[in-house]
Order: sequence, then structure tokens, then C-alpha cells
Amino acid sequence: MSNDKFALTAGYLKKVVPLLMKYHVPATPPNYALWYTYVANANSELTQKIDESIRDTGSLSANTCKALYDEHLADERVRESDAFKQGLQALAIEMGNTMADTMKDTDTFQSTLDKTFSQLARVGEETLSMDETIAVVRSAVKGSKEIRQSTSFFKNQLAEAQKEIDRLRETLEQANEEALHDALTGIFNRRAFDTEIDALAASPPPKGFCLLLCDLDHFKSFNDTYGHLMGDQVLKLTGKRLTDYCRDGIKAFRYGGEEFALLVPNRQLNGACRVAETIRASIDKLVLKDKRSGKKLDNISVSIGVAQYEKGESIGTLIGRADSLLYEAKNLGRNRVMPIA
Ligand code: GH3
Ligand code: MG
Ligand code: MG
Repeated sequence: MSNDKFALTAGYLKKVVPLLMKYHVPATPPNYALWYTYVANANSELTQKIDESIRDTGSLSANTCKALYDEHLADERVRESDAFKQGLQALAIEMGNTMADTMKDTDTFQSTLDKTFSQLARVGEETLSMDETIAVVRSAVKGSKEIRQSTSFFKNQLAEAQKEIDRLRETLEQANEEALHDALTGIFNRRAFDTEIDALAASPPPKGFCLLLCDLDHFKSFNDTYGHLMGDQVLKLTGKRLTDYCRDGIKAFRYGGEEFALLVPNRQLNGACRVAETIRASIDKLVLKDKRSGKKLDNISVSIGVAQYEKGESIGTLIGRADSLLYEAKNLGRNRVMPIA
């Protein structure tokens, strides 16, 4: 499904809600998608099938909805799941707003009806006999009850739908969160880094920004000595340490295996080097212990290359400069920051 097919219009959404109600279609995300596609007339074959079912059976059963969804939307969902997710998310948000409006309307509608019927209930027409008056009033009151029941049915359906939307929104938010975080350390991952650095370069903060590339020293031999699991613990600890420095807009990322990156906005090279030096020293000071044996492990250290973004340069160039400086720091003996501030 292309994004523009899913370009959302409040007008279409307003049509979806009554249809879900009318045909008693369960308010599930796939059904929103299905019926949205229907009212937007974005898939003529689908529209035709829905029309046929309504014409022949007067409704659209849950099974038919599922079959139509599988046939017309699910395949595409697999093919372009990101576009679908975005579409569904936008749909959920819009739908939530529309539903809130509809709820308000329903409330007003109900109170108006109640008022009208309660007035009617008091009417005594001189031309009507007592019996006739009572009959009118009775039927009005009965009508009122029926309408009230059906509006409260609508309201329940709407409330259910709203809940479903909230759940969907949470799931999508969670999925988005997970997509941007590294599973081991919990800090931002490379994907998040790419997005963030693109955004910074596209509209740099007033005082520019700097990139820190940090690489743990001799980490292979640390792994060889203490095992990969212990190595993982160190990576976690390093991630946690780096997030301690995430203030004033600074963000930390796991860039690769034992490599981390920091993006430091509104700081000149000197300032960013000072941040890097603080980080280097704090990692150097870490005392690592084997929790089980209580034995002290070898210290770890980090080398850091710092580069300031120059307006107009490509991200590749910036990363390349930070990387060369990191390489220099390694060559000069590791556990240091380059350039020297
Ligand atoms: P240098 O000081 O030159 O950076 O040496 P190094 O040993 O750190 O560099 P090298 O690139 O040779 O090795 C990186 C090591 O990082 C090897 C790899 O096993 C380890 N590593 C990468 N990702 C992980 C991980 O997720 N967990 C653990 N435990 N180790 C990892
Ligand atoms: Mg490395
Ligand atoms: Mg290394």
C-alpha cells in the first residue's frame, strides 16, 4: 500500500465510524484499515466486494472482513510494512480524534432527546382524550428508551474502539522505540544515530555540533581473557556511563560492536573535547569486578576521536574525520582523546 493511498482525510474517517457501527463490525485495527480503504475508494475491487456483500447479506461479517483484509491489505502490509505501520498509526491517531468528537456529539444528541421526550411526556392536548394522550406519551417514552439504548450501544462500541486504538498506538510506539534502541545496552542504536545526525546536519543548531567516536581499547583481548558474557557486561556499563553525560542535548549511541558515538549540539571543538576527556577519564576510573568471585578485573579504557561539523560538508566526511582522529588516538597509545584540546 503506498503512503498516498493512506493519506488520511478527516472526512473519510468520519464516514468510517458510522459504518463500523451500522454493520456491527468489531473495532479492530485491520477493520479500520479495511473500511478506511473502502470509504476512500482506494481499491476498487475491495469496494466492489464490500458493496456486493452488503447488497446480498445486508452486512459484512467478521469472517468476510478478515478474508477481504487478508486478500487486499495483508499481502501489501508484508511487502511494505513500514508504510503500512505509519499509515495505521496515523489512522489510529486521526481515528482517536474523530471518535472523541463523535462521542461528544452522541452525548449532546442523547441529552437533547431526553429533554424533548421529557417535555413531550408532560404534554396534555385538549383535543386528545385522556387515553390518547397517554398512548402518545407512552410511545414517545418508549421511543426515547429505544433511542437511548441504541445510542448507549454506539457509545460502548465507540469506547471499545477508543480502547483498541489506544492499545494499537501503544504497540506502535513501543515498536518504534525498540527499533531505535540497542537490545544489549538499551541506549540508542545505529539507526537512531543515522536519523539524528541527518537531522542535525539538515538544520544545525545555532552553535553547530560535534561528533565523538569512542572505541573501547583492546576489547578483543578483554573478551579473550574474561569471556564474551563479561564483555557484554562491560558494554552495558559503558552505555550507562555514556548516558550520564546526556544532558544539554547530548545523545549517546551504540555505533557498532564496541564502538559508541556521541552527538554534542551547540559546542565548539574545544568544548566537545572537554566532554570527551571527562568521559575517557570516568571510564578509565571504573573498577570492574567479577561478581561471583569478587576478583578485580583488568581496567578498561576508551579512545575517542572528536570532530566538529563544518557547514555544507557531508556526514560521511564528518564521520571520516572523527574516525581518523580515533585512529590517531589508538596509534598514540590509546586511552586518549584526539585532537588534544
Ligand atoms: P582496539 O584497541 O584497536 O580497538 O582493539 P580491539 O580489540 O578493541 O579492536 P578489534 O576491532 O580488534 O576488536 C573488537 C572486539 O569487540 C572484538 C569483538 O569480539 C568485540 N565485540 C564486538 N561486539 C561485541 C559484543 O556485542 N559483545 C562482546 N562481548 N564483544 C563484542
Ligand atoms: Mg572497534
Ligand atoms: Mg576497540
